[in-house]
Amino acid sequence: MAELVFFSGTMDSGKSTLALQTDHNYRARGREGLIFSRGDRAGESRVSSRLGLEVAAHEVTDTTDFWAEISGRIAGGEAVDYLVCDEAQFYSPGQVEQLARLVDEMEIDIFAFGITTDFRTRLFPGSARLIELADRIEVLQVQSLCWCGARATLNARTVDGVMVTEGEQVVIGDVGERETPAEVAYEVLCRRHHMRRMTALTARRRSAHESLWS
Ligand SMILES: [Zn+2]
Repeated sequence: MAELVFFSGTMDSGKSTLALQTDHNYRARGREGLIFSRGDRAGESRVSSRLGLEVAAHEVTDTTDFWAEISGRIAGGEAVDYLVCDEAQFYSPGQVEQLARLVDEMEIDIFAFGITTDFRTRLFPGSARLIELADRIEVLQVQSLCWCGARATLNARTVDGVMVTEGEQVVIGDVGERETPAEVAYEVLCRRHHMRRMTALTARRRSAHESLWS
C-alpha cells in the first residue's frame, strides 16, 4: 500500500538531509522517483542540505499540478514509484490534495518534508493540510537547539539578528547574496525564548549590558 508520509521538524532538524537519503535508498532498490522542492536555500530546482549535499529537483510553483504532471508522465510510459517533496510547507493545500490522490489512485509513495509552523508560530497552510491528510506523521529525531541549550521547537525570523513578528509568511532568508539592506534570517528557539523574543544576538547584548553595569 502506498502512503503519504509527512516528515516534520523545525529548521536545522535535518529534513533535507533525510529527503536526499530517502531518495538514495529507494533509488538503490531500483525504484523510480522524482524530487520536488520549493524555495530551497540553494536556489530554484535544487534540494540542498546543511551538511553540503545538493541535487537537482523539480521546482514547485503556484501553477504546479502534481496530479496532471505525474499522471501525464505515467500515461507517457514513465515509471514513477515515489515522490520526495521537500519544503512542503510552501505547497498549497490544493497541491497537497493532489499528492494524496496520487497515493490513492496511482499507488505512488509520497514522502513530504517540511516545517510545521511559520515565524509567528502559526501552521503553514501546506503543512496544515499534510497533518490533516497524511497516513503517517514522523517527527524528526535530530533535535535542534535554542541558544540556551533547550530543545528548539519554534522558528523565529530575524532582521539583522533581531526577532520580528510581522511580515509576509514566506520570505526566503539565508540564501547567500544579500539583495536587501537588512539581512533576513531564521533562528530556531525554544518556546520560552520565542515568547520573549530573545534571539542569540539579543541575549548576548543583554548579558554584555548587564556585565557592564554590575
Ligand atoms: Zn531558549
